Amino acid sequence: MTNRTALVTGASRGIGLACARALAEAGAKVILAARDATKLEQAAREIDRAAWVELDLSSQDSIKRAFSQAGKIDILVNNAAITKDGLALRMKKDDWDAVLATNLTGAFLAIQQVLQGMMKERWGRIINISSVVGEAGNPGQANYVASKAGLIGLTKSLAQEMGSRNITVNAIAPGFIETDMTAGLGEELKASMLAHIPLKRFGRAEDVAAAVRFLASDDAAYITGHVLDVNGGMYM
Ligand code: NAP
Repeated sequence: MTNRTALVTGASRGIGLACARALAEAGAKVILAARDATKLEQAAREIDRAAWVELDLSSQDSIKRAFSQAGKIDILVNNAAITKDGLALRMKKDDWDAVLATNLTGAFLAIQQVLQGMMKERWGRIINISSVVGEAGNPGQANYVASKAGLIGLTKSLAQEMGSRNITVNAIAPGFIETDMTAGLGEELKASMLAHIPLKRFGRAEDVAAAVRFLASDDAAYITGHVLDVNGGMYM
């Protein structure tokens, strides 16, 4: 991946940070993007050839600014996401809007920023981090699930639009991965989830990062429009 530049959104921690590390290890120059400048600076210092930009995916202005600072991007990993869980019956429209804005619209607007450059290069990799719940549904997460299912539809449409330009567009659907996002879940819920995971362990950020590194590599040149499950078998 030498001579490639990758931008990873949500790279200040968790899966995004692991993806940035994995892509850097594979030889890419990596740009870490998220809202928390302090964390980004700290993370970038520990990764070879890494830079960082402040990015708030809920703001189109911020997205435009960040990508113009970042320059030419060969590999885009749309990883950042938020949750605002609640039963649909009582879900506030603000919570619906916020989750869709960051997770889906933000990813779409980020993709728009990189497409022209990739088309010119006749090479590009777009990897959208969806979720097992985007495939299977999940009670209490209608907004998050809609955003993650939306990313799968976006992936497949873009793969068809961009194939002739040698730009591949794929999604990864992680299962239960141990990060800040899942740290707050109750022990009872975790135990019941574990019982449904054939590989009998929760995932690590590095498990997802390995799939990202593969899809970004030349080895994955003939894979597009695919949803790769990284879930220990919890959903097949
Ligand atoms: P996390 O630990 O909560 O990290 C989320 C990242 O997104 C942070 O770096 C955060 O950085 C960034 N972010 C949040 N809002 C943002 C915004 N408006 N603009 C820019 N960056 C923003 O989450 P994670 O567990 O690593 O999850 C990473 C991805 O995997 C997400 O797409 C998630 O939906 C997906 N996923 C996770 C699991 C799991 O079990 N953990 C399962 C399936 C799918 P700042 O706060 O600094 O902005």
